[in-house]
Amino acid sequence: MSENIFDDAIKRLDAAFKYAKIDPEALEKLKFAKTTLEVSIPVRMDDGSLNVYTGYRVRYDDTRGPTKGGIRYHPNVSLPEVKALAFWMTFKCALVGIPYGGGKGGIIVDPKTLSRLEVERLSRGYIASIADFIGPDTDIPAPDVYTNARIMGWMMDEYSKIKRQRTPAIITGKPIPLGGSLGREDATGRGAYYCIKELEKRRGWNPSDITVAVQGFGNAGQHVAALLHRDGYRIVAVSDSRGAIYRKEGFDIPSIIHSKNSTKRVQAVYCEGSVCEMVEASTITNEDLLELDVDILIPAALENVITEENAAKIKAPVVVEVANGPVTADADEILVKNDILVIPDILANAGGVVVSYFEWVQNKAGYYWTEEEVHQRLQTIMSREFNVIFERMSEEDADMRTLSYAHALDRIGKAISAQGTYSYFSEEEMETA
Ligand code: NAD
Repeated sequence: MSENIFDDAIKRLDAAFKYAKIDPEALEKLKFAKTTLEVSIPVRMDDGSLNVYTGYRVRYDDTRGPTKGGIRYHPNVSLPEVKALAFWMTFKCALVGIPYGGGKGGIIVDPKTLSRLEVERLSRGYIASIADFIGPDTDIPAPDVYTNARIMGWMMDEYSKIKRQRTPAIITGKPIPLGGSLGREDATGRGAYYCIKELEKRRGWNPSDITVAVQGFGNAGQHVAALLHRDGYRIVAVSDSRGAIYRKEGFDIPSIIHSKNSTKRVQAVYCEGSVCEMVEASTITNEDLLELDVDILIPAALENVITEENAAKIKAPVVVEVANGPVTADADEILVKNDILVIPDILANAGGVVVSYFEWVQNKAGYYWTEEEVHQRLQTIMSREFNVIFERMSEEDADMRTLSYAHALDRIGKAISAQGTYSYFSEEEMETA
């Protein structure tokens, strides 16, 4: 991610403003993060030495509710990046209509160089440093790149010790025995799946006629592929960081998941129980996968994989951004010009934060839902917001990404305006009620 990532994020805001029905003052307010915190975290290493790590937490905007966003452990974490990610969370939460603002956190560290005990000490140290800045009604973290459920469990425990009361609602993405929600594991892939199902209805698709390529076979990619496969979609290509496999008849996705989880590789296999045999398929590159002549392309791995260089070669008429930021701004213009429908990341991968919200609601209520209830509530939200934005596309001359931002901006702008804007305060005879 570039140094000026935050400035790029602000440019998207300006583009969406044209389509939003909000007061310019609201836009001005959204160009600044509400509060940013930088902390240093001293960690005693296993060999007895001391390392000091730098961490950040940003609360971007909390007009619609407590801020919400993950914690990233990565050597490239920087304040502009954390601010930009917190900005995106503000829009993602508003877009799906959950009562949160946006936040994000991170530590500059390569966690692969640390032992498990060092990761635990670092995670607890980070929470101790930011404990006065976060809270179940203030700012609620979650996992992000290189953080996971176990780390969330340690963080919840540390916060609870500091506050001297068990506080599961301080953080989401926890292990289920520590207050996590059923249905969180596949929520991101499932949210994208519900968007595709709405498109299916609108386009009158017969799933067995529809071919799909999925780049990235991790948590998000596996789940969206499995759900589509279950409905009869033909998943003709999948990949991981080592490369891609292609088979025009489609793959048996549960078999590939089984093999990936046991061998750590994406392989063209068909399994009966635990016995797998290879099926005929071609090995292609990740670049080839993106350019396949398929009906739906799902980038579910990394950011910036569709760029100015390859955008014109994308043949899929529908791109579903399960990864965050897989299409660069320049590439986006080319895709729009070529009439490719891009379901943007802030909508397509919002299922994760929606079920995080459900986890927080359940923690606060102390009453836990069945997996079916979680799925049904997620579907209601994803389908509703997908359709609102899709309808706007037929009324306004703009792409789905711009209108998704505009839709989010409308919600945030209304909340900001409800507190009073220039036009209200400058009226000569102010209402006294
Ligand atoms: P993950 O680590 O579980 O999986 C990532 C997958 O991408 C792995 O299969 C990896 O092998 C593959 N990969 C890595 N480099 C690749 C490359 N160069 N080409 C092809 N594949 C490559 O991660 P995840 O949780 O599935 O997240 C994937 C994307 O979805 C990320 O952009 C993430 O920000 C986004 N996302 C995830 C969630 C979630 O809840 N998991 C929520 C919102 C957004």
